[in-house]
Amino acid sequence: MAVTYLNFFLLIIITSYISEVLAQNDEDPTIKTMEHFSGYSNHDSPSCTSSSFSVDTDSLQLQIDELSTFSDTPAPSVTRILYSDKDVLARRYVKNLMGLAGLSIREDAVGNIFGRWDGYDLELSAVASGSHIDAIPYSGKYDGVVGVLGAIEAINVLRRFGFKPKRSLEVILFTSEEPTRFGISCLGSRLLAGSEALANALKGTVDGQNVSFFDAARSAGYAQDQEHLSSVFLKKGSYSAFLELHIEQGPILEEEGTSVGIVTAIAAPASIKVDFEGNGGHAGAVLMPHRNDAGLAAAELALAVEKHVLESGSVDTVGTVGILELHPGAINSIPSKSHLEIGMLLVLDEYAFPAKTRKVKVLEFRIVNQDPPSPSDESIIKAMEDRRKELNLTYKFMISRAYHDSLFMARISPMGMIFIPCYKGYSHKPEEYASIEDIANGVKVLASTLAKLSMK
Ligand SMILES: [Zn+2]
Repeated sequence: MAVTYLNFFLLIIITSYISEVLAQNDEDPTIKTMEHFSGYSNHDSPSCTSSSFSVDTDSLQLQIDELSTFSDTPAPSVTRILYSDKDVLARRYVKNLMGLAGLSIREDAVGNIFGRWDGYDLELSAVASGSHIDAIPYSGKYDGVVGVLGAIEAINVLRRFGFKPKRSLEVILFTSEEPTRFGISCLGSRLLAGSEALANALKGTVDGQNVSFFDAARSAGYAQDQEHLSSVFLKKGSYSAFLELHIEQGPILEEEGTSVGIVTAIAAPASIKVDFEGNGGHAGAVLMPHRNDAGLAAAELALAVEKHVLESGSVDTVGTVGILELHPGAINSIPSKSHLEIGMLLVLDEYAFPAKTRKVKVLEFRIVNQDPPSPSDESIIKAMEDRRKELNLTYKFMISRAYHDSLFMARISPMGMIFIPCYKGYSHKPEEYASIEDIANGVKVLASTLAKLSMK
């Protein structure tokens, strides 16, 4: 019965606690208009708050469309694999946009790209936002891209507004969020978060064509003289906040007609092994009220997994009990032990109940192969919620059931995510679509939140 189980349980408690706290604090005296940020007085036009932000939707849509042409498969599908020629061209395209936005550009040894707008207090750590532009084979043009091009546009929005950041603002393009080429998801952000294990593993990593990671990186102009990738690691505190704008990749916001999802926590894929132990006994002799049936506890847990997944309402959420073993496995014996293996993509708190109601012991609850889920930072959630109010957009608190670079950025920085609706929740296929109006709403919330966090 592991500490990890406790972490999972705590996450649920923490996220519901955050939601409660936020629900209670509907009126927040700290809400400020843009004049507080920018130093410009808006007394003559009291409506001149972040609600008057203008997103250049024509340019942004054009950029999304143009970026999608750097693909190894025909439109409308997009295929952009790490360090491929198309990936290199797409990176050049994004760096050009960063340059046009007046950002100073830095690239690290694996090709994480940083575009910085210096704030007026260079002593302070920066506020960052970003996502990825790699795309799995035959996917769409919005996953990740909205968070990169949207962050650059958020900078443009703030510049047009006349905003001057106190903390520097930085746009990050993360290398290889998708595991397509080397089987490692969020490669760039894991390294930024200081994963020694990954830095070491990459020395022996090859792709399906037996090309080594370092040869592939060098062909794209990275990792030139590197034997170790510790130069990529960022210190904790390098950023005072990190925010990612992303399509929901699920149907909830669109179905409910909600403009913005404020992510309270990121769940992660998990493989979980559970062992229950009861007293067993003769199947004929022990009466029902006196049983502690480990088999039925396992059955209840399996059903709880299904129930929880169905109730989540997300097409991306899956849970499977693929292994269920009973001991001793005889028709005339009450199972004294049971063993389950669960593959799932969510945080659960129902594990407790079969153990309680069946009066069996949880011998083992082991999470195998999983990146710990991460709660969003409370103050960032609050900042996003305030900005959303000022912009008068409908919103919903939600858990991200998909992996994102934010999961790893949360290890070194307070983290938050903004979701926008996408068509039928489609993602990772050519039908993936988000309307430019929804994207613009996300960019406004992002710009406004970045502005607020930059002044802290
Ligand atoms: Zn993504």
